[in-house]
Amino acid sequence: MKVKLQAYSTALFSTWIFLEELGLLFDCGDGCASHLMQKSRKVKHIFVSHPDRDHLGGLLQFNQLNARGEYPKLYYPADSSSFPFLHEFSSKFDPQITLPEWTAVRENDVIDVHPDYSVKCIRNEHVPSPLTKSLSFILYRKKKKLKAEFSELSSSELTKLKSTTVITELELRPVLAYSADTPVENDGRWQDVPVLIHEATFLKKSELHSGRERNKHSSLEELIPMVKQAGINQLLISHFSSRYSEEEITSDLSRLIEEHELKIPVSLILPGRTFSIELEIE
Ligand SMILES: [Zn+2]
Repeated sequence: MKVKLQAYSTALFSTWIFLEELGLLFDCGDGCASHLMQKSRKVKHIFVSHPDRDHLGGLLQFNQLNARGEYPKLYYPADSSSFPFLHEFSSKFDPQITLPEWTAVRENDVIDVHPDYSVKCIRNEHVPSPLTKSLSFILYRKKKKLKAEFSELSSSELTKLKSTTVITELELRPVLAYSADTPVENDGRWQDVPVLIHEATFLKKSELHSGRERNKHSSLEELIPMVKQAGINQLLISHFSSRYSEEEITSDLSRLIEEHELKIPVSLILPGRTFSIELEIE
């Protein structure tokens, strides 16, 4: 399936990632509706990773233009109180719209977003808290496959068996993942995900604690070796700090790609710019 991806992502200011054919939006930072315009009507499911303003600041306008019946459905980290507050405020501020209920989600929750695709919520350590305050997401392709115990049977035996027994089971295969804001995790969570959208707020590891934020982020220097190890086929890098110029980002990236012999397509969602790409997902 070909999917058009449009995105904007600059640390502190705004992040949103739109997958058009799936009607799927990851995060809804400032300017999401004004960039997507009529296309924002296509969004059916919004997954907001965490309550930082650069990830939810566009929701008021987005919903005022697009809330209709049960859509767009919105999912948020279960222990963040910002979302119930915003839902209440939004409903009072724009009483002419009927805002759908928003759903609190936790680690390992799987939400169907399309007949063939689901999104799984993954905990990340962006917010230092044992509670569910920050999530990453993996998009899975759902496929029915024959149960292993029946793999030796002939097609006529399978046909006969089908009338009395369930012979298939659901297989979830990862097709794309969105890290949202997170430190780099080397625990295999992205292993063999074909397309990874991962943040790199900073270029160098030594810069990680230079900001005022106590929340944790990634550096490009840590991201590239992790991606090499994880067997990713395609990488999109988001959430750069606006302190870096395009030249600084591309020169660090080229050096790291060479150093770690990374031989996959890498795209940059550069600070202050909208980005679009067509992806081939399974
Ligand atoms: Zn952010």
